Amino acid sequence: MIKSIVLKKRPEGQPIVSDFEFKSEDLELELKEGELLLETSYVSVDPYLRGRMSDAKSYIPPFELNQPIQSGVIAKVIDSKNDDFKEGDYVSGMLDWKTKQVSNGEGLLKVDGNIAPLSAYLGILGMTGLTAYCGLMQIGKPKSGETLVVSGAAGAVGSVVGQIGKILGLRVIGIAGSDEKVELLKSKFGFDEGINYKTTKNMAAAIKEAAPKGVDIYFDNVGGPISDAVLFNINRFARLVICGAISVYNNTELPTGLSVQPFLVKNSALMQGFIVSNYAEIFPEAISELSKWLKEDKLTYSETIVEGFDNIPYAFIDLFVGKNKGKMVVKI
Ligand code: NDP
Repeated sequence: MIKSIVLKKRPEGQPIVSDFEFKSEDLELELKEGELLLETSYVSVDPYLRGRMSDAKSYIPPFELNQPIQSGVIAKVIDSKNDDFKEGDYVSGMLDWKTKQVSNGEGLLKVDGNIAPLSAYLGILGMTGLTAYCGLMQIGKPKSGETLVVSGAAGAVGSVVGQIGKILGLRVIGIAGSDEKVELLKSKFGFDEGINYKTTKNMAAAIKEAAPKGVDIYFDNVGGPISDAVLFNINRFARLVICGAISVYNNTELPTGLSVQPFLVKNSALMQGFIVSNYAEIFPEAISELSKWLKEDKLTYSETIVEGFDNIPYAFIDLFVGKNKGKMVVKI
């Protein structure tokens, strides 16, 4: 029996379980020369998938209705007619939300569970670790002694950004959605300060108090009013790294907010969005640095692991209410 999850309906606002359809088929998968049979082990759920569920133009094509959703997956090779992969290998790649599937090997990378737990290749040693490293280094251009503010700080990308900031000698302030997450930022990830945006009335004042010398780098995972509040505290030549805007991904109307231009002009500040794949040429450097810091115990990570194929849509939906600490992953 092979199970799959397809997009049944494009979500309106917050995604709901009935936007997805569960299917099962009794199929014997026959391999042709060059193909391999994969059994899914871990599935990554990510906020950016929400964008692909809409049919608006973006940097990546939308998912088609009634077709399986795709995301980062770790899978075990259970049969192979491809010389590059053998039975028992584990691979990572952009694959369908299916329990088993056939691939021609294109775009698959072998991963080694003896070097790091398999799920880490979807997080710290995968897309979210790369996003943290590339965005911070390439746009943030951190310098020791500067102040870095990170929103979505207890999530997969944010928790890595803050730790890299600490490794490089910055003062790091994280913004997250619960007291428990704020505590985690300080106790586990070494942030200097944390702010709970859900209980703080005046965010601009709270950021000012946590960053008395002002903000040199803002790594933005969330957008919206949290990011507006940071603008009141940026320094001259600040760098605003626009990684994501989860607070508006479910909006059905274009959000209105502060006009950013006067803040940028007054401070000669740079605001730049990016997509991690822009920096593919530095991925080897990024993976080597992240692995080194992990080995040296300078870097750590959290995962929220949800169990069971049928829970993939629930895990995805839970990202938008902050149920995860660190990387949200589904174990099959
Ligand atoms: P996270 O692990 O950070 O999970 C999402 C988190 O967002 C939740 O845990 C929640 O934490 C927070 N959140 C949800 N809704 C809101 C809201 N309305 N306001 C503020 N915070 C909210 O996800 P990732 O680390 O995978 O991704 C973080 C961001 O980076 C996303 O915006 C994503 O789209 C973006 N991204 C961009 C990439 C790129 O190439 N540019 C690549 C990968 C990710 P809390 O409890 O604190 O609210």
